[in-house]
Amino acid sequence: MRQHRIAVIPGDGIGIEVVAAGCRVLEASAQRDGGFALDLQPFDWGSERYRRTGAFMPADGADQLRRFDAILFGAVGAPDIADHLTLWGLRLAICQPLDQYANVRPTRVLPGIRSPLGALDPGDLDWVIVRENSEGEYAGQGGRSHRGLPEEVATDVSIFTRAGVKRIMRFAFETARARPRKRLTIVTKSNAQRHGMVLWDEIAAEVARDFPDVTHDKMLVDAMTVRMVMKPQSLDTIVATNLHADILSDLAAALAGSIGIAPTANLDPERRSPSMFEPIHGSAFDITGKGIANPVGTFWSAAMMLEHIGEGAAAARLMRAVERITADAALHTPDLGGQATTDAVTAAAVAAILGDNA
Ligand code: NAD
Ligand code: MN
Repeated sequence: MRQHRIAVIPGDGIGIEVVAAGCRVLEASAQRDGGFALDLQPFDWGSERYRRTGAFMPADGADQLRRFDAILFGAVGAPDIADHLTLWGLRLAICQPLDQYANVRPTRVLPGIRSPLGALDPGDLDWVIVRENSEGEYAGQGGRSHRGLPEEVATDVSIFTRAGVKRIMRFAFETARARPRKRLTIVTKSNAQRHGMVLWDEIAAEVARDFPDVTHDKMLVDAMTVRMVMKPQSLDTIVATNLHADILSDLAAALAGSIGIAPTANLDPERRSPSMFEPIHGSAFDITGKGIANPVGTFWSAAMMLEHIGEGAAAARLMRAVERITADAALHTPDLGGQATTDAVTAAAVAAILGDNA
């Protein structure tokens, strides 16, 4: 029997609720499959730990994660703690040392889900957004001087390295090549940002020469928002910087029906360290504790995790369960206009997995 060790970090708010749901479908997936077992190890890292100890995770937290095959993450963020502290104290404190440089965000309109764009045929909105996840605008460099004085200055420096841009471009072209349409859109802003973004464009053109079978084009990020809304069919695989893809992928999630559905993977494609899988949404204080958080984004993320650890059949089974849920309006949570609870959706997913005879 294959064994996989999974670190489980629910975090805060609805992260705790959707990750509990995710663990139930993962257990059901292993049970139905019969070929593998999951050792799901919980970690109490997050805002509660910060209030108690002054740190979101132990100093050697990232190293503790190295002995796992993958990480399932919920969300971090609390109303009484500044968001930059939570982000840098937990999520980036894991992604950066583990060098999970490729953030992958598949987006498509699942059966039964209504896009704000109206009636779409399957395939009209079927994208993979590749986000640079290790440098760029979120490199963490910059500073503040003359605090509180009229001459106060604050800077955030974007950092683009040849090696960093090259590896994400190669990953994006490989991702595009593996999809039927073999089409990559490279998002840029080199008209205004004349150093890092020009390097970005140059390396994209260099890498493109190694992928003659992939069609590629270049879009300015502002024009890209218009194209996503007006011509979703024209897009397939998309690569963008850390900041640009952060924004574009929330738009993509909304166009695909709800931020509660969208999954993401923080990958180390070279597999030197474990990759991390999480819904793209945050801790959603407004609905925490109400039992109505949509767990589908976590289920989809868990399916990506199963695929990554080599359990493709279980991943496909879990995605079939997800599509059965979304196709049934009685299983829609309030973010989708329905009345279902997290628990009802999870029970339906577990039943679909255990009863899947495909
Ligand atoms: P959010 O994603 O938490 O919530 C935005 C809106 O979407 C809210 O109305 C919320 O109720 C709704 N929503 C989100 N997920 C949902 C789900 N699964 N089911 C139903 N509705 C859902 O974003 P926010 O309000 O900007 O941020 C709240 C906190 O989360 C902040 O502290 C922020 O820093 C943090 N955050 C964390 C992450 C992360 O951990 N990766 C990502 C985004 C935001
Ligand atoms: Mn975001």
